[in-house]
Amino acid sequence: MNKTLIVRYGEIYLKGKNKSYFESSLVHNIKIALYGINYSILRAQNRIVIEKYSEKDEPKIMDILKRVFGIHSISPALEIKTDFDEIIKNSVLLSNDTGTFRVTVKRADKKFPYSSVELAKAVGGAILDEKPNLKVDLHNPQHELFIDIRENGLTYIFYDKIICAGGMPIGTAGKGMVLLSGGIDSPVAAYMIAKRGLSLTALHFHSFPYTSEQAKEKVIDLAKILSSYCGKFNLLVVPFTEIQRKIHENCPAEYMITIMRRFMMRIAEKLCETYSCKTIVTGESLGQVASQTLESITVTNSAVENIPVFRPLIAFDKEEIIEISKKINTFNTSILPYEDCCTVFLPKFPIIKPKLALIEKAEESLNVNELMDSALAQTEVIEIKP
Ligand code: ATP
Ligand code: MG
Repeated sequence: MNKTLIVRYGEIYLKGKNKSYFESSLVHNIKIALYGINYSILRAQNRIVIEKYSEKDEPKIMDILKRVFGIHSISPALEIKTDFDEIIKNSVLLSNDTGTFRVTVKRADKKFPYSSVELAKAVGGAILDEKPNLKVDLHNPQHELFIDIRENGLTYIFYDKIICAGGMPIGTAGKGMVLLSGGIDSPVAAYMIAKRGLSLTALHFHSFPYTSEQAKEKVIDLAKILSSYCGKFNLLVVPFTEIQRKIHENCPAEYMITIMRRFMMRIAEKLCETYSCKTIVTGESLGQVASQTLESITVTNSAVENIPVFRPLIAFDKEEIIEISKKINTFNTSILPYEDCCTVFLPKFPIIKPKLALIEKAEESLNVNELMDSALAQTEVIEIKP
């Protein structure tokens, strides 16, 4: 008898001929996440089994696996060789003492000489013999004992199915550049798009000395929390002060934010080339602020030439975003009071419905390429690890 963890994946099973690629990616990501822990990993049919680990490591392993995208659920299970008496004995051992229960058998191994129903009845009967305070309830049991007879001669017995992060394995959707501010929204956007399998590089614009070192530290902390889900990645920090100063000096005040955001997009697209990213990701939500009206987003978006911009939160209410940020543990860091670059030179009345032609006209007073090149040349690369 061995203690094991059964790992089930979600959407991967829909992948037909490509399934093996997604499965291999998931196994690869699990190995990275569990680095430093002793265990072995087995690919069984439509699932992955973690075994041969020390019992004291089980809570830690489970905690890590709950954050690996692509895993739908896990179950701590007993692994035994497929044998009627062994199944009965261990099922009784594992079962609760009181309450209601049912036994659910899945028999992939059709050579096993009992049907699912026959075995469930036999196990249920044996449990009731030993534990008379238990009652069977087939429809709404408090405890459900699963017996999974696999084709490889092994049977797994378990109770709980612990629901995990879901999504697709990181990397299977390619690479993207997430614009990470210190706010509530962008870390949630990063989490959500990473969950769909996008491997991230993060980009932060820093306006030192208008924004403090602490503001940058806060973004690093947020990135670290994200890396507990997505593994290690690079955080690029681009100095933004000079660009903001030049816009402030040369352009109409109400265009400040729009032009600033167009610079962010242009710089992001340039860095996407350098870091082989195929999309830009932001935490924008429709109508949340002046720079996120349909008109503002259109003008910001048009600064990007060749790649799509993903906005995972476009249809989310602030309350819904906050709920996720609490769930993924970024909220308490996001609300620390350090200023973001968007608050520097903030006009009293930012334009709500900018017109592209007028914005482009205003930008003519700036040396866009030179400002970008100078900022890009000073990009700092920080390696973020969980
Ligand atoms: P957030 O909570 O993510 O800061 P927000 O509601 O404050 O979002 P904005 O400040 O308008 O909205 O920013 C919109 C998006 O632009 C952010 O979600 C983020 O993706 C990006 N962004 C804003 N400021 C920065 C920054 N300093 N560095 C990198 N990206 C930024
Ligand atoms: Mg912000």
